[in-house]
Amino acid sequence: MKAFAYVSATNEREALAALSKAERGRVLPMAGGMDLLGLMKDFIVSPERVVSIRNLDQSMASADGGLRIGAAVKIADLIDNAQVRKLYPALLTAAEGVGTPQIRNMGTVGGNIMQRPRCWYFRSEEFHCLKKGGSRCFAVEGENQYHAIFGDGPCHIVHASSLAVPVIAYGGRFRVAGPNGSREIDAGQFFQLPNQNLYGETVLQADEIITHVLLPAPGQRSAAYEVRFKQSHDWPLAAAAVNLVMAGAAVKSARVVMGAVAPIPWRAPAAERVLAGKAVTEALAAEAANAALAGARAMSGNSYKIQIAKTAVKRAILAAARA
Ligand SMILES: Cc1cc2nc3c(=O)[nH]c(=O)nc-3n(C[C@H](O)[C@H](O)[C@H](O)COP(=O)(O)OP(=O)(O)OC[C@H]3O[C@@H](n4cnc5c(N)ncnc54)[C@H](O)[C@@H]3O)c2cc1C
Repeated sequence: MKAFAYVSATNEREALAALSKAERGRVLPMAGGMDLLGLMKDFIVSPERVVSIRNLDQSMASADGGLRIGAAVKIADLIDNAQVRKLYPALLTAAEGVGTPQIRNMGTVGGNIMQRPRCWYFRSEEFHCLKKGGSRCFAVEGENQYHAIFGDGPCHIVHASSLAVPVIAYGGRFRVAGPNGSREIDAGQFFQLPNQNLYGETVLQADEIITHVLLPAPGQRSAAYEVRFKQSHDWPLAAAAVNLVMAGAAVKSARVVMGAVAPIPWRAPAAERVLAGKAVTEALAAEAANAALAGARAMSGNSYKIQIAKTAVKRAILAAARA
């Protein structure tokens, strides 16, 4: 690992001062360090200064019928929160599935949302891939069994954050702070495709941080479903989060978001339209799942993901309807 200076910020003002005028990649915030330190050890990023933001707001509080979550809240504490357990089952399922107890005890909500892609070509020092300034995406002709089935490249990463998927399903927002003050960004507008931002994954500027996740009051019924190769120590192969606003027995409106299928959490408006105005049955959930995956395009080694993503969507819808 390249030597670096270390600043431990005790509040937002100190963090922003230490990050100010940051050129992309030269100064980086670190929360739990679960992702960042691995990237540094593998020389994928080599910041000159690391600014610890793990001591920033770690509170969770009710706000406007919803929940305001400090970005420095540990995933384990999110899981233990009574309001999350009662009102946001899709977020709870996603959080419980993250990594291992050790990772959930160190990893923060903000760090999870901002974690970098897991693509093995991106993560390997050996491959100078498109995302690192190279000329090609090695996944196109290489090992692409865990890569994207949506998004059209030119880089075929999948978005790694399990938590971002339900946050978008709940219509969440991020409070972001930088040298020019703070702003709120719709979580659905926060992540960017490679053809919008090849070297990063979000609209966040180098000198900005996420300080809070703001969740509105949830719909009456919500759930998430993840398909995993193994139960722990790994990311889902496909995931779905569903949030339903009900009018009696029928769905008034729905949000359906998929994870691990595209470079960003992938919303499925076609599935949402199938559900609107109808009572959920197994046949309707299957129809919505088919609609969600209608535009998927498999690479040479990942056509299996289309079926498992369909299963994730169908099971998340049925679980939400039963919730
Ligand atoms: C074996 C294993 C299994 C895993 N399984 C899963 C899984 O199933 N699902 C899943 O979602 N994750 C999974 N993870 C990833 C893990 O959850 C993340 O690495 C962790 O949550 C990152 O949080 P952190 O606080 O340690 O972030 P850090 O490592 O400190 O930071 C991660 C990145 O975000 C930036 N950053 C951190 N906080 C902020 C902020 N507030 N604002 C702006 N930028 C910020 C950092 O600069 C860095 O680039 C797994 C990890 C491992 C090792």
